Amino acid sequence: MTEFEVIASYFNAGQQSRGDVILGQSDDCAIVRTTPQTHIAVTTDTMVAGVHFDEKVPPRALGHKLVAVNLSDLAAMGAEPAWLSLAITMPEVNTSWLEEFSAGLHELANYYNCQLIGGDTTRGPLTLTLTAQGLLPEDQLLTRRGANPGDWIYVSGTLGDAAAALAAQRGEISVCPVQQQQLEERLFYPTPRITLGQALRPIATSAIDISDGLAADLSHILKRSEVGARLQVNNLPYSNALNGNIAVEQQRHFALHGGDDYELCFTIPEASRGTLETALAHIGVDVTCVGQIEANGGLRLFDGDNELPSSIVGYQHFGVNL
Ligand code: ADP
Ligand code: MG
Repeated sequence: MTEFEVIASYFNAGQQSRGDVILGQSDDCAIVRTTPQTHIAVTTDTMVAGVHFDEKVPPRALGHKLVAVNLSDLAAMGAEPAWLSLAITMPEVNTSWLEEFSAGLHELANYYNCQLIGGDTTRGPLTLTLTAQGLLPEDQLLTRRGANPGDWIYVSGTLGDAAAALAAQRGEISVCPVQQQQLEERLFYPTPRITLGQALRPIATSAIDISDGLAADLSHILKRSEVGARLQVNNLPYSNALNGNIAVEQQRHFALHGGDDYELCFTIPEASRGTLETALAHIGVDVTCVGQIEANGGLRLFDGDNELPSSIVGYQHFGVNL
C-alpha cells in the first residue's frame, strides 16, 4: 500500500465533512472558512510508543485517546471542536492496526463534528501527533487566569481511575477483574468534557483539564491567577470501581497525583453557583466542589479541619507526560 492509499483508505474514508472546510486532505494545505467575532483555539499532543503507551493498549483506544486528549484541551478553553490534523509515523503499513486506529479516531471526531483536514504520513518508530482547532466567541475566553479569592473549586467526573488502572496493570494494587476492566475503560477511553467546557464559558473564572493529577493542574491555575487554594481531600470524587476497593491514602494519591483523567477543574464565583446548577441540569456530567480559592498560601490540603503535611501536596511525578 502506498502512502496515498493509506491516507485515502483510513484517514479520508470514515469521516463526516463540515461546511466550513473548503479544501481538506487534497492539496498542499487545508483551507477552512472562519467567521467574524470568532477566535480559533489550537492545541497539539503527541503520543510515542513505549513512552505514552505500550502494546497493552488496543489500537482503537489509541485512536480514541489521541482525539480525546486534544479535545480535552479544547474543552478546558470552552472551545467548540472544528478541525484536526494528524501526523502519523509508523514502522510499517499494518492494515488491521490502521483499521482499528482510524475507527477509534473517526468515531470520537465524528461525535463532536470535528473533521480531519490534513496531516502527514511517514515511516519510522510509532509516533502519533494530533493538532486540534476549535472555535470560540471572542468575548468569552476561558483560561487558567481569572480565579479570585472566594471562588469555589470544582472538578468534573471522578478522579484517579486512569492512574489506578496503570497501577493495577503493573501489579502495584490488586483489584478484581471487573473493576480492572472499568478502570481500564477510563484509561483507554477518556471522555473529553466538551459540552461542560462550553457551558462554563460565561460562568467560570478559570479552567484547566486534569492530565497530570489535580494537585499539579490546579497549581497551574493558582500560578496563572496569582492566588492560593484550600482543597478538601475528603470531598474528592471517586468512581465505584475505586471506592472501598483500595486504601484511602492510595485513592487520594491517584486523584491528586495520577495522570490521564481528562476531567475539568474550574473555579466558580459564589454568585454564579446557582447558574452552574442550572447549566449542569442540561449536560449530564457530575461536578463536585472540592475546595476554595484563597488570596495566598499556595495549595493547601485539608482533611476536615486538619491540614495535611506539605509533602503530600508537593509530590512530583516524572511519569509519562513529560
Ligand atoms: P505534501 O507532501 O504536499 O505535504 P502529502 O503528500 O504529505 O502532502 O499529503 C497529501 C495530502 O494528504 C495532504 O493534503 C495532507 O494534508 C493529507 N494527509 C497526509 N497524511 C495524512 C493523514 N495521516 N491524515 C490526514 N490527511 C493526511
Ligand atoms: Mg506539498
